[in-house]
Amino acid sequence: MDATEILKSNAAAAAAADAAWVNPRDPAKAVGADGQPLRSRRAPKWADVPNEQWDDWRWQLSNRVNSLEEIGEILELTDDEREGLSADGKFRVDITPYFISLIDPKDPNDPIRRQVIPVGSEQQAFTAMMEDSLGEDRHSPVPGLVHRYPDRVLMLVTTQCASYCRYCTRSRIVGDPTQNFNSKDHEAQLDYLRRTPQVRDVLISGGDGLTLAPKLFEKILRGPASLDDGTQNLLGCIRTSMGTLGARTLKEMQQVEVVVAPSLLTEGKVYQKAQQLGMGK
Ligand code: SF4
Repeated sequence: MDATEILKSNAAAAAAADAAWVNPRDPAKAVGADGQPLRSRRAPKWADVPNEQWDDWRWQLSNRVNSLEEIGEILELTDDEREGLSADGKFRVDITPYFISLIDPKDPNDPIRRQVIPVGSEQQAFTAMMEDSLGEDRHSPVPGLVHRYPDRVLMLVTTQCASYCRYCTRSRIVGDPTQNFNSKDHEAQLDYLRRTPQVRDVLISGGDGLTLAPKLFEKILRGPASLDDGTQNLLGCIRTSMGTLGARTLKEMQQVEVVVAPSLLTEGKVYQKAQQLGMGK
């Protein structure tokens, strides 16, 4: 890229940063009836929450709903869901206000609802049921690092998520605060990468790395990147991260070189931010 192209590209990035986000599938839906940019849907419970709070990922995390009573205020629950939400020993339930507001309160088959609301049958054992269905534990040379293929690893950096998916293949550890990874584990993971130069791709996952404090997450992201110029960081569970934590942007990570699979960028704000960072199309 020559100097003129760089200037053009910088000008385009600045223009993109100032422009309102437009839904590329339907630009007509960028503005509401009041002429203001459209905002994400909210359940009536949060109608009076100021936009600054609604758009703050920390507020979203602190105001998650998880009990039968709270969720029953927002959705018309079926008997099956009531049973699921009342079950002892179920996989953790937590849903951000943003994500539960996307659910049709009257439709028991709403896909987002099926993603996060447990049903009674979830507790039933079935033939060939396995706790670690992907055999990750036996491919972990150090805690939280899954090395199954020669040139890539999965680096689990947290067990916490913004919302918990009923289909999670890592539900044996995810959501359990007593099983979380700490800085000693992160260092042991990096140490393994230092000793294993054939690894080119580090898929950072969990849990959901985007729930970590920005400074800690940045440190984690910088770790593999510092080992070798050719090593890429990829963010795992990004679809769910962006979907459930919707309001969080990548602003705090602008200094970090991150590669995100563009096809997984579904949330408008994140899409826009990714474009500014040159990570999306
Ligand atoms: S975000 Fe990923 S790790 Fe967390 S519950 Fe969902 S599938 Fe599991």
